[in-house]
Amino acid sequence: MIHLKGIRKSYKTEFTNLEVLKGIDLHIEKGDFVSIMGSSGSGKSTLLNILGLLDEYDTGEYVLDDVLMKDLSQTQAAQYRNQFLGFVFQSFNLLPFKSAKENVALPLYYKKIPRKERQAKALEYLEMVGLKDWADHLPTQMSGGQQQRVAIARALISEPKVILADEPTGALDTQTSHDVMEIFKNVNDQGITVIIVTHEEDIADLTKRIIRLKDGNIEK
Ligand code: ADP
Ligand code: MG
Repeated sequence: MIHLKGIRKSYKTEFTNLEVLKGIDLHIEKGDFVSIMGSSGSGKSTLLNILGLLDEYDTGEYVLDDVLMKDLSQTQAAQYRNQFLGFVFQSFNLLPFKSAKENVALPLYYKKIPRKERQAKALEYLEMVGLKDWADHLPTQMSGGQQQRVAIARALISEPKVILADEPTGALDTQTSHDVMEIFKNVNDQGITVIIVTHEEDIADLTKRIIRLKDGNIEK
């Protein structure tokens, strides 16, 4: 599903050149459930953003579903993102003045799916994350854990092959974090590849495999 070979990435400014990834080799098969760990600043988000086609790498190769992801135009990158990938962020990133149902339905709005169909499917996905009764609530009326479950439902509604989550439990307490991880496990049980960035050992322990980043490389 995902193959990285010798991925390098540095951030250049006028005076500095910060090498963040120094030749990452990584293979993630369909159906895997992976956590990426590493100290703050070790390049976890950089790696996830490259995997998510939100950022470009300098050299190396990134093959997603047998296609080389290199020198993509903005439009191409967006197409692959829509086709393959779902994103979950630490801060949920829900629209504050839209209900849970409208937030979940949003990706389908951009795909020009008719309103009735959008709403029905949004309810289905809210039910999947245990929030059917909260469909008409605003994010501000929901707990952090509930908001994150809405965000997961929104990521799933486009039927992605891979879910990418950057510190999805970073803003949640322990119990709520474990509840959210249970949802990711259910998602993974349906055959969707799940990749989460975390710096919490107990969260990483709930995944099938831990990848550790250190000094720009994957620790052996
Ligand atoms: P992590 O997610 O592991 O905390 P990041 O991938 O966010 O690490 O960042 C890795 C390093 O790259 C950090 O030193 C960070 O300051 C730097 N960095 C991240 N994004 C940028 C950017 N857009 N421009 C310059 N430096 C950046
Ligand atoms: Mg980060």
